[in-house]
Amino acid sequence: MAAIFARRGGSRVTIVEKTADGGRKILISGGGRCNVLPEAIEPDRFVTDSPRPLLRRMLRSWPLRGQRDFFEREVGVPLAFEADTRKWFPASNRARDIRDGLIALARREGVEFRFNTDVTGLHRSDGRWHVETTDGAIDASAVIVATGGLSVPATGSSGAGLEIARRLGHVVHETYPALTPLVAEPPCHAALAGVSLDVRVRAKSTREAIESRGGWLFTHRGYSGPAVLDVSHVAVRSRAAGDVSVRVQWCDLDADAWREALASASGLVVNVVARRLPQRLAEQLLIEAGVPPDRRVAELRRSERAALVEHLTTYAVPWTGDEGYKKAEVTGGGIALDEVDPRTLESRRCPGLFLCGELLDAFGPIGGHNFAWAWVTGRLAGRGAAAVSR
Ligand SMILES: Cc1cc2nc3c(=O)[nH]c(=O)nc-3n(C[C@H](O)[C@H](O)[C@H](O)COP(=O)(O)OP(=O)(O)OC[C@H]3O[C@@H](n4cnc5c(N)ncnc54)[C@H](O)[C@@H]3O)c2cc1C
Repeated sequence: MAAIFARRGGSRVTIVEKTADGGRKILISGGGRCNVLPEAIEPDRFVTDSPRPLLRRMLRSWPLRGQRDFFEREVGVPLAFEADTRKWFPASNRARDIRDGLIALARREGVEFRFNTDVTGLHRSDGRWHVETTDGAIDASAVIVATGGLSVPATGSSGAGLEIARRLGHVVHETYPALTPLVAEPPCHAALAGVSLDVRVRAKSTREAIESRGGWLFTHRGYSGPAVLDVSHVAVRSRAAGDVSVRVQWCDLDADAWREALASASGLVVNVVARRLPQRLAEQLLIEAGVPPDRRVAELRRSERAALVEHLTTYAVPWTGDEGYKKAEVTGGGIALDEVDPRTLESRRCPGLFLCGELLDAFGPIGGHNFAWAWVTGRLAGRGAAAVSR
């Protein structure tokens, strides 16, 4: 995106890309379908330790309507809105169409590609940038660093850009895996692997709290699904301090509603619970709440009812860790937003250096927000770089 807009601004542009084809994260995104944009951009749901007005300003610079038109008319990929998840995907449901479409558009615009080439260093002398690569040095009037963060290193993002920025004197806020599954060791819920449902999750520490509603998935190692991923950064950031709790309400019934449901029902307790929850989960929660599997509603003891209602509405998830960068959809933290000019994303420390994408200190929730961030900041950086390099 940055290269396309830099080229449109009249610059000669070369992309230096370490993998053989680039955009590999796009290929694996959205389960291979690429959730390319959200229904609406919600700046308040983004996470950053930088000043929020800067984040809002950057996000506002390219309204969603314009981004959708760009993909449909210029990249040439029709998009489809999925009503139940409220997300935009390529109508073909093929992530590859987005990746290949962007590369094809960049080529049509005249961008030169150097694949299988690693940027190893960056320095400035005599008012020019010198980009050191595994295939020789490149001299440039402007450089855009769009190397991503540390998440899923197999896609090419190893944190090289963060290191380069640090060496150039930039403030880099502490990084951490975000939108990453949680694990339990020992894996006490492995028998529930594959069970999924819509829940409400709350993660709370002494420094922050977040709530999310949506899909929950039991995995062999722990817990995943959009609702878990969206709160995972609070768990990850506070784990070392040991002051974080993750609690789940398994369906839309709160404690009062469950008490009423139990009071007005008859038959086995497990069947009452399984009317709202997957059977295997209902059985597990009864065991953990200390309610015998053959307990009838009429015989439910007061203490059993209290424990069961607590397990149904404020269940304390027995997580012990997270999947880290290996599975994190994004990197939290990164180059502080006040290190760049919000209009152009030019570094405030190094003239002619532009920074964009996951490298910067911001990420959004699941649902297309992180690509929106990449598209928006890529466009700003591309335009900014073109303005100084013409
Ligand atoms: C499994 C998964 C699913 C996701 N699904 C979605 C989704 O559906 N919707 C959504 O909005 N977001 C999704 N995301 C997040 C989204 O993919 C990222 O936010 C986005 O790709 C970040 O873009 P970027 O260009 O900043 O970095 P990246 O996409 O990481 O691109 C960085 C590029 O720089 C290259 N590079 C790195 N270092 C060097 C170097 N030294 N020299 C040369 N090249 C280098 C890399 O090879 C890579 O091609 C997903 C992420 C993952 C991991």
